Amino acid sequence: MKKYDDLVVGSGISGMTLALLLGMNGRSVLLLEKSPRIGGSLARFYREGIPFDTGFHFTGGFGKNGILHDMLTVLGIHDYVKPIYLSKEKNNRIIFEAEQATYDMPTGYQETIAKLKEYFPGEEQAIDWYFEMVKDVCSRTVAMDLRKISLSPNLIDEDFVSLDDVLKGLTDNCTLRAFLAAYSMCYGVKPAEVSFANHSRVCFGLYQSVARVKDGGDAFIKAFRECFAELDIAIMCDRYITGCVDIRNKHVGRFVLNTGEEISCTHCIFTIHPKEILKTLPQEHLSNAFVDRVNAFEPSAGFFSVFGVVEPDDPADDFDPSILSLFPTTDVNSMLDPGTTSAQALVIMKNREVVGGRSYRVMNASEISFPEHVAAWKDSRTGNRPPGYAEYKQKRVDSIRRRIVRTYPEYRDSFRVVEAASVLTFRDYLHSPDGSAYGVKQKIGQFNLFGKLPLRNVYAAGQSSMLPGVVGAMMSSFIVGRSIVGKEKYCRFIEQRLCS
Ligand SMILES: Cc1cc2nc3c(=O)[nH]c(=O)nc-3n(C[C@H](O)[C@H](O)[C@H](O)COP(=O)(O)OP(=O)(O)OC[C@H]3O[C@@H](n4cnc5c(N)ncnc54)[C@H](O)[C@@H]3O)c2cc1C
Repeated sequence: MKKYDDLVVGSGISGMTLALLLGMNGRSVLLLEKSPRIGGSLARFYREGIPFDTGFHFTGGFGKNGILHDMLTVLGIHDYVKPIYLSKEKNNRIIFEAEQATYDMPTGYQETIAKLKEYFPGEEQAIDWYFEMVKDVCSRTVAMDLRKISLSPNLIDEDFVSLDDVLKGLTDNCTLRAFLAAYSMCYGVKPAEVSFANHSRVCFGLYQSVARVKDGGDAFIKAFRECFAELDIAIMCDRYITGCVDIRNKHVGRFVLNTGEEISCTHCIFTIHPKEILKTLPQEHLSNAFVDRVNAFEPSAGFFSVFGVVEPDDPADDFDPSILSLFPTTDVNSMLDPGTTSAQALVIMKNREVVGGRSYRVMNASEISFPEHVAAWKDSRTGNRPPGYAEYKQKRVDSIRRRIVRTYPEYRDSFRVVEAASVLTFRDYLHSPDGSAYGVKQKIGQFNLFGKLPLRNVYAAGQSSMLPGVVGAMMSSFIVGRSIVGKEKYCRFIEQRLCS
């Protein structure tokens, strides 16, 4: 039997962050991954030698003193993960199709405020109040500061009021409200269901700057891999826990793996979907209330993604990294409703990739989708789907392609679809129960699975714990890491890393 201080289950950004944080604090760590390779949603995939992003396209928080900047600095991988800022206004654009209205999102908090005031004259006060409130929420959220981050909930008033209610209180202008709610695509929850506080925590960094990363999520994975090797952090792929045995006094003595191997550890931290955690834990040691709570979690929105290239490459074409969001209407609640029958929001991302000296104009378009859209085929697995599914997929690919070329008519004859992924593709590829993009729907007033679980040496972290997206997932790992390493040691470590 192998023994470790800590067993980290799941090797997405949450698992890798936690494994490294613990390893840097002198602990022996095993990182366990069900897939053949580490990285989870961060890992890119290749078709015809062209790299495509799976679940990481862009992020905020890179600016100096931004939470992502600080986390990467503490982990010692800041120099490996190079942001490519979307610095030109037109490179982050929102189009409300019904109104034929186009808005550009500049870089910088103050610049965004100023631009919005230009777009919406007469709404200056609402705009000032909104951005003041977003900033204020973040300054009062201890988790946004690595020195103060902790498991104690630190809920504030804005955790109990919805984004929708705040926006309706600020303005009657539907387009302005939709614009301010636009980044709900980055957490997949309706404005009526998300708290204003969580909306603010996700958006603050995005309003400051939006960046892609050179080499996408693979840049993170490469950096983590190098650090794991230096610190002797063990990695086991194609492995998952099939049993928790030798449980005494609510302490799991041994974790049995699918290969029959057994692991003993002081702490086991799950960074996987709460419903997957529930399946793994011994039911007889869980209360009905706990089981009911986890079963009641709903999925956040997911995506139907189309991955393609504009061919042949044309070095003269300004193919700067860009994000263009097509919103069919200004009703963001309806766009994030699984029951909606009208057109879905579509986010089109352009990026030039250079591989082996060859340059590609890569285009990815992700349309909001839900497990409900693929419910008819939910019992099938990748590579073995019924014929109706192929038809659904082709129809959706064709419709997305039409939207892309309507938006970029110059690529009508040169854009080629290389691959497509439905919510079911994401589900199976990422070993998630439903294929949602951001784990469980972070609803207002919901008590997430985070920190210590009903078994004493078992913890939960990951995107469903606290805040979705790569930044939120990493933050959850810092919080759980602090709890395991111990407050004093953690604080010394953070201070030393941030000041060095
Ligand atoms: C299409 C799409 C686009 C997105 N775009 C962005 C974006 O642009 N920016 C952004 O910030 N966020 C984006 N996200 C969300 C982002 O990918 C996630 O919030 C984040 O990567 C989650 O990280 P995680 O480590 O919590 O989970 P994951 O990345 O899902 O990692 C979980 C890992 O656990 C493994 N696993 C599952 N079950 C088990 C088990 N039983 N045993 C062992 N291992 C297991 C999985 O194989 C996986 O490797 C997107 C998501 C999707 C799907």
